[in-house]
Amino acid sequence: MKQYFRLAKLLKPYRHLLLIAVILVILYSLSNAASIYLSIPLLKTLFTNTPTDISILPAKNFFDSLRQVLDSYIFSGGDKYNSLIKVCILLFSAYLLKNIFAFMQSTLTQYVEKKLVTDIRRRMFHKFNSLSLKYFNQRRSGDIVSRFISDVNAIQNTVYITFTDLIKQPIMIITFLLMAFFISWKLTLISMISVPVSVILIAFLGKKLKKYGIRVQESLGEFTSVISENIYGGKIIRAFSMERFENRRFERKLVDYFRSLMKGAIYSNLNRPLTEVVSVALGVFIIWYAGKEIFSGSSLAPEEFIGFLLIIFQLMAPIKDLGAVVNKMQESHGPANRIFEILDAKPEIFDTEDSVVKQNFESKIEFRDVGFTYDTDDRMILEDIDLKINKNENIAIVGLSGAGKSTMVDLLPRFYDVSKGGIYIDGVNIKNLKLDSLRKMFGIVTQEIILFNDTIRNNIAYGREDIPMEKIIKAAKSANAHDFILETERGYDTEIGERGLRLSGGQKQRIAIARALLKNAPIMILDEATSSLDSESENLIQEAIERLMMNRTSIVIAHRLSTIRNADRIVVIDDGRISVVGTHEELMESKDGIYSKLYEMQFG
Ligand code: ATP
Repeated sequence: MKQYFRLAKLLKPYRHLLLIAVILVILYSLSNAASIYLSIPLLKTLFTNTPTDISILPAKNFFDSLRQVLDSYIFSGGDKYNSLIKVCILLFSAYLLKNIFAFMQSTLTQYVEKKLVTDIRRRMFHKFNSLSLKYFNQRRSGDIVSRFISDVNAIQNTVYITFTDLIKQPIMIITFLLMAFFISWKLTLISMISVPVSVILIAFLGKKLKKYGIRVQESLGEFTSVISENIYGGKIIRAFSMERFENRRFERKLVDYFRSLMKGAIYSNLNRPLTEVVSVALGVFIIWYAGKEIFSGSSLAPEEFIGFLLIIFQLMAPIKDLGAVVNKMQESHGPANRIFEILDAKPEIFDTEDSVVKQNFESKIEFRDVGFTYDTDDRMILEDIDLKINKNENIAIVGLSGAGKSTMVDLLPRFYDVSKGGIYIDGVNIKNLKLDSLRKMFGIVTQEIILFNDTIRNNIAYGREDIPMEKIIKAAKSANAHDFILETERGYDTEIGERGLRLSGGQKQRIAIARALLKNAPIMILDEATSSLDSESENLIQEAIERLMMNRTSIVIAHRLSTIRNADRIVVIDDGRISVVGTHEELMESKDGIYSKLYEMQFG
């Protein structure tokens, strides 16, 4: 319930619209009640021979006086045909009004509901773009996607139903109850016996529904993850002939999902029949009791009894819906939890009021006694890193796989924050710099090239629409990408497909280099691709990289011989520590050093 009320709080900006919706609901239920009540004068007109016997007794209460006004309007003149026409006109008007109000109210509530989920999705997206990469390391992408799609959809229904029902049904119930009460308070009280029975039933079913609601969303998240892994890993799956293995994995998740759905459906479907049986048992009892009263000549007129029954039958639907509301509120618990888990996540890396803007990179980058852990198992990935990189220096980082090279460069733009020590640019701790101005200083080409499902031009310009075409072409030319771009179907306007699937590995790298060149940042971080390319492609990329590093400070995780040869200094990382720093020649001289072993391994 707590989560439900948190969801309800998000409706605050729409309180004015909701107030109008409430007024519309009241108007709706009044016209609805009127349309039902009118059946009493209708029956009286059709079946009573003396319709002119309008009550001349003093009205007992407000309801009674309303009835007298209505009766005197309908039955004045004593002409049955005339009365029939009046009842028909009133009936039609009541139904017309009821439907107009119903339409207005449901459109208005749907507007609010759709606005709300749009707000939630927007807030979730902004939130997760503000989260540190650590957040994503601990989660599966399919699971996050399913929170955006299905969890938000699930609460969309909940919000609509709970709003409509929590406000509409109680108003309807109160209106009907008042009417029933005034026709016969005794019968009304008897009818109310069913309420506690229904409440107990509903509470039981609600608990079950909550349990399966959570399970359904969890298993949906799991099977969405398998789908997305199968999309991204399509090549590997086929290469290892793991299609059947993946099919089985998917099958298990799908069956889990199906089972949870089915169990939830059973409890959800039990709701109506159970409450209906309880209500009908009671209805039959009332008919028996009232029939007995009428036979014994009580004050209850037959048409009033029929009117009463109509009202009680009408009352059943909102009571049942109200029961379903409790279930829906329970059902919203799982999805709401998963949504708030994102909305409540605390960004670990953010600007503070004291953060300063830094316009230029002037002299040096320093790692001072840096240590780092990903927190997953408290294992220190980097320790005692002390390194000074001067402006315009070309630094190559080498080391065995898993030594911590990527982690070390990821600390510079604060993809992760150091766990110990500090990183300083021109003597300022990067934690005190505005993130935006810090990240503007870096051009980054990652090993796994990230391209977006957009045109080549937009992938190079990435997010900067004001960049003139000449600059894009210039960057593409420097990256040796211009020629192959022109050969594509629509040149710079060619769509490259999701994650650049329509481009070769070397082409993707050159686009990424063009993107970095266009950003023209003073410090370049480059994680060279380990995959080998043919020598022509290799040369084109080598040239592009050299241009990228020209007149810049560069830190390259090196996998190419030429890169380490051209580097001013090489930093060897071994098991999270800097083992040695020097030029290629210096490091080769220390014959038994780790560098020469690495060199042997990588370049033979
Ligand atoms: P490679 O050359 O293979 O890319 P690397 O030297 O760049 O290796 P890193 O990727 O920095 O090594 O990884 C260093 C260590 O940190 C490894 O033991 C790895 O298992 C661990 N690691 C890397 N990324 C994460 C992560 N997101 N969460 C937890 N541990 C991680």
